[in-house]
Amino acid sequence: MVSKSHKPNGRIATAAKKKKQRGRITQGDNSVRVVGWREGRKAPRKTTRAKRLILGPKEIDKLSEDELLDTRLCDLGISVDSDWLKPKLEQLYSELSKRGIRFRPHAWLSDEWFSPDGIPGIAIPFCLAHPRLKSLERRRMYEVEGGTASWCMKILRHEAGHAIDTAYRLHRKAAYKKAFGNYFDPYPDTYRPNPNSKKYVLHLEPWYSQSHPAEDFAETFAVWLAPRSGWRKEYEGWPAFQKLELVEDFIAKVGQTSPKVYSRAKADPITRNRDTLREHYRERHALYTERRPISFDHDLKRLFPAKLNGRHGRTTSAAAFLHQNRTELSRVVSQWTREYRYNVNQVLREMIDRCRELDLRTSGSPTEAKQRALVMLTVQTMNYLHGGHHRVAL
Ligand SMILES: [Zn+2]
Repeated sequence: MVSKSHKPNGRIATAAKKKKQRGRITQGDNSVRVVGWREGRKAPRKTTRAKRLILGPKEIDKLSEDELLDTRLCDLGISVDSDWLKPKLEQLYSELSKRGIRFRPHAWLSDEWFSPDGIPGIAIPFCLAHPRLKSLERRRMYEVEGGTASWCMKILRHEAGHAIDTAYRLHRKAAYKKAFGNYFDPYPDTYRPNPNSKKYVLHLEPWYSQSHPAEDFAETFAVWLAPRSGWRKEYEGWPAFQKLELVEDFIAKVGQTSPKVYSRAKADPITRNRDTLREHYRERHALYTERRPISFDHDLKRLFPAKLNGRHGRTTSAAAFLHQNRTELSRVVSQWTREYRYNVNQVLREMIDRCRELDLRTSGSPTEAKQRALVMLTVQTMNYLHGGHHRVAL
């Protein structure tokens, strides 16, 4: 959803035409920073053309963890026609049809969610196409973006919004510019969301629609498209209501017409990605590391001293410990600090990522470890709230 071509640092990604790619949101100085994890992506390696041995879904199941990690993305014989994804896409198409939209955005597997600039289609993370890859993603990233049916549908509707915007060039219309802003504005490095604003719908993540006019449109479209979303009631009296009505108006005019942009091209499909899964995850983790404050590590190391001092010298991974207790930790801290659960979760996610990278261990009583984790999470959440120095990577 965040532009790859409009990166603030001026670095142009390999697919220079990519835009509106879903990004990671980081926070600091009370603003939200939008970054794609591929921002720091290295140039593609020059490789000699190795023989491709495509692994079918059943063969993927048989691989050991190491064999799987050494598999190149282009050798995964998976597609959007998988058992889990296919019905989701069919549901999206049926929702579009029910709302009077003839156009069907095409979909393909890539390494993350996005809809490219100039191509009215949807790139879907490959891990969603196979249960084994999904569980690998969960273990490596502690979360599968769009991994549940309802979350997947929400993102699909959002990306469909971008695709339809592209297909019918809605962003060129004066009414679009007036309501959502200039689609061609560069994506900001940071933005200051107003949590209380009623000018924007709430859909994927709080305030995401405030990040850019194209995201605002996609989020508004997604809310409008969702069956039984009840937007007329829910957004009654909000200035965002007019944007929802504008989407309805646009679709009433173009829904049955042929799209102006009709490309079936696929940007960054996994079929052309020669990275192994190991390289893929190494790159994603490395990007998170770049953005972490030093003080944060210091506190974490105090919280989880990496000494084997537990009973029988036994320790457990601090990342796994925090992950197992994440629901309770974020609930309690959110109650104490009266901070949005979402923000607390971001800090917690940062703690988990960093514990994993530093390979921190916890030993002794879980109750004690939980109490210390609660204090750390509370302090970091308050720092984030009032100090404005803490930057959290998602
Ligand atoms: Zn988007």
